[in-house]
Amino acid sequence: MNIILTGDRPTGRLHLGHYVGSLRRRVELQNSGTFDEIYIMIADAQALTDNAENPEKIRENVLEVALDNLSAGLDPEKTALFIQSGVPALTELCFYYTNLVTVARLQRNPTVKTEIKMRGFESSIPVGFFNYPISQAADITAFDATVVPVGEDQLPMLEQCVEIVHKFNAVYGETLVMPKALLPETEAGMRLPGLDGSAKMSKSLGNCIYLTDLPEEVRKKVMSMFTDPNHLRVEDPGTVEGNPVFTYLDAFSKTEHFARFLPEYENLDAMKAHYRRGGLGDVKVKRFLINVLEDMLTPIRERRRYWESRLPEVISYLEESTKIASRKADQTVRRVRAAMRINYFEGDAFLKEAIERYPTA
Ligand code: ATP
Ligand code: MG
Repeated sequence: MNIILTGDRPTGRLHLGHYVGSLRRRVELQNSGTFDEIYIMIADAQALTDNAENPEKIRENVLEVALDNLSAGLDPEKTALFIQSGVPALTELCFYYTNLVTVARLQRNPTVKTEIKMRGFESSIPVGFFNYPISQAADITAFDATVVPVGEDQLPMLEQCVEIVHKFNAVYGETLVMPKALLPETEAGMRLPGLDGSAKMSKSLGNCIYLTDLPEEVRKKVMSMFTDPNHLRVEDPGTVEGNPVFTYLDAFSKTEHFARFLPEYENLDAMKAHYRRGGLGDVKVKRFLINVLEDMLTPIRERRRYWESRLPEVISYLEESTKIASRKADQTVRRVRAAMRINYFEGDAFLKEAIERYPTA
């Protein structure tokens, strides 16, 4: 079986970084036809681990993230888009897995370390947040996921999950399926820079283009983008490396875009060469980028309008998917309980063992 599990935290709308790093790939994988089951999780329970005081924010963004996924091209016929908290089996698995992980091991997780710092949790880490690598292992294994498409920053989570699977299977017998991470294929997919040139587009840094931004917002944001600070006059030679405008073009432009929007260049390499030589102004490059982004965003906006006008359908899709996900995770829990010898009321084995011990009863 080939099974995908991946997901998003519903803490805000999704942006181009999410799109190039995960959504686009997700839709390609979905349409490749090589997967038997695809589960996309809206991780509301996980989002609550560091937003406990903000339940309304999470509730709102569950719908936003669902709409973002559907507008990116998620197909309800092929993919189960479900809500984490609606699958209680995940909590149960997590509880059992916590026995297999030490506090020291969690403290060593580099992603958790960084996030604790980012959130100012140093001396007051919520236990739930600290625990989230284990909870993520529960999410992955509950679905027998073989492939987990993730960003680079999630690799330590996958490592933690692999360790849990090894440990569980070693202690209780071969039960859990070993997952594999699938990383983005491109540099930009790994880490799309922000509009301000900072290393990462990230909603908390406020340097994002959102999938829901209107054409006018996209235009303004691109026009305000950081470029090469030494490229002052059009004639000056410019640098392409580390110039976010070109990184975005690397990520989103196709050769056909040149024929359509800027026929004087055959392809991106030709355009880059001109920029490096000097004589190509930032405004022209940015106008091209706007066309490229609009070409990509237009169908996304259209699909969004389609789904926004069918909210009852969206909600019942989420509900149906959550039921499907729950049934799947329940099967795994049954296997796990059997392996852990806590399946007392399944069949009559428990009684038989008792009678063996008390032959006179
Ligand atoms: P926050 O600022 O709250 O951390 P964010 O915008 O960075 O939000 P996350 O929820 O942290 O978004 O990101 C979820 C996942 O999306 C990441 O694990 C990563 O795989 C992917 N991702 C986020 N931002 C980018 C980006 N700029 N480039 C590529 N992938 C990204
Ligand atoms: Mg982040």
